[in-house]
Amino acid sequence: MGGEIRFACPVASRCGGCQMAHLPYAEQLRRKQAWVRELLSPFCPVEDIVGMENPFHYRNKTHAVLAGDRSGNVISGVYRMGTHQVVPVDKCLIQNEKADAIIATVRRLLREFKIRPYREDARAGLMRHILIRTARATGQILVVLVAVQPILPRKNDFVRALLAAHPEITSVVLNVNDRATSMVLGKRDIVLYGPGTIEDVLCGKTFRISPQSFYQVNSEQTERLYARALDYAGLRGTETVLDAYCGIGTIGLCAADRCARLIGVELNPAAVKDATWNAGRNRVRNAKFYCADAGRFLLRMAEARQPLDVLFMDPPRSGSDENFLRAVCTLAPKRVVYISCNPTTLARDLAYLTKHGFRALRATPVDMFPCTEHVETVVLLSQQKPDDIVRVGLDLDELDITSAESKATYQEIKAYVWKKFGLKVSTLYISQVKRKCGLDVGQNYNRSKREDAKVLRCPLEKEEAIRTALRHFQMI
Ligand code: SAH
Repeated sequence: MGGEIRFACPVASRCGGCQMAHLPYAEQLRRKQAWVRELLSPFCPVEDIVGMENPFHYRNKTHAVLAGDRSGNVISGVYRMGTHQVVPVDKCLIQNEKADAIIATVRRLLREFKIRPYREDARAGLMRHILIRTARATGQILVVLVAVQPILPRKNDFVRALLAAHPEITSVVLNVNDRATSMVLGKRDIVLYGPGTIEDVLCGKTFRISPQSFYQVNSEQTERLYARALDYAGLRGTETVLDAYCGIGTIGLCAADRCARLIGVELNPAAVKDATWNAGRNRVRNAKFYCADAGRFLLRMAEARQPLDVLFMDPPRSGSDENFLRAVCTLAPKRVVYISCNPTTLARDLAYLTKHGFRALRATPVDMFPCTEHVETVVLLSQQKPDDIVRVGLDLDELDITSAESKATYQEIKAYVWKKFGLKVSTLYISQVKRKCGLDVGQNYNRSKREDAKVLRCPLEKEEAIRTALRHFQMI
């Protein structure tokens, strides 16, 4: 794929966003594949990278920073790497072409309306950034004008002129960012036109996207990524599924028809609102979304011994934290589908998970970001099967162990049941189950010291867990 495709960008070296612009597309794919293979080879085989047929203008989100030049013109572009100097960009090979045209119009209108770009050094001027989101499937376009104050002079005329030039725009929002920060958006959104959000369609489901919410930037490749993630999840319709770091709920909601129950967790309140709205919009009734830190949320789930069959996790570039990973090991879902935009933190987290009860089965890199050095990867992990552990030197005949009793101590059984099921079981319960299974137990284990005392009966759920442990240790 991409044999002869080459990129020719006049500002590539000054912009720095497209680190691979000088390479033919096939070579970009080869390098990304090799990078992911190298990092993941200690864990699992890596399948062929999924590239694009046409790797241009794929970005559905376009950001331009505004500045003024000496002759009073408004320029827009990107910060030169590591500085706050603006490199003018009029046309970009990976951004949406309509977005480029809208940015040019905003520049013209700012001049006509005498609205000055903000100057950080002088703390003067008004307009800081333009952010545009285009929805591939619906054609809807959201324009976000980021200003230092909640005032846009002659705002109705401004919006009217913008819409006259681009009737395809469906929403205009004024975002207020008055902080000295490198974050593009401030907290406050003022809707100037339309609903203030856009809708896009992924894998047959419709999603509302707010200005503040995360949305994958390459919709075409996102559908391929999610298809692979769903394939890895192998859902049968009966599972409890958790979508962690769920954003606006896209992955989970694409899986909702194939599972019994969907839980989503996400830190950004705007995204959680979108996710809940999106569940209703798609008539998904088995989903609930929570606004929380994913690590803390999972720890609480583990403490409450919530059942979990399949986990989708899609953390930011920094990967997951220890809380999260520890809780995953306690919850012990059958499968984990890990989606990552950073192979380095992915490899770090896989090292943890594979050391604590999981094994990685396969992985696929997906080129979500042609021309740049970035790559997305989806990995399937499953519970390490008891067979794998037992296989090492536990052949009964070979070891000549006739009394299976000697196989595991009560402590070992307790530890196994806790790790696998998150259940605490007492020595009394273990002895009851062992007795039921015809195994020898010490005289006093399930007898009360007082003749008339009631003996606690092991609940069914715990009995099943103990039986599993006994099978695991080949005692039954
Ligand atoms: N799965 C979504 C979003 C992935 S991006 C999709 O495919 O579109 C990662 C998401 O993690 C972002 O929405 C971000 O807001 C969220 N996030 C970042 N840190 C988090 C944390 N500590 N707990 C929960 N969510 C977090």
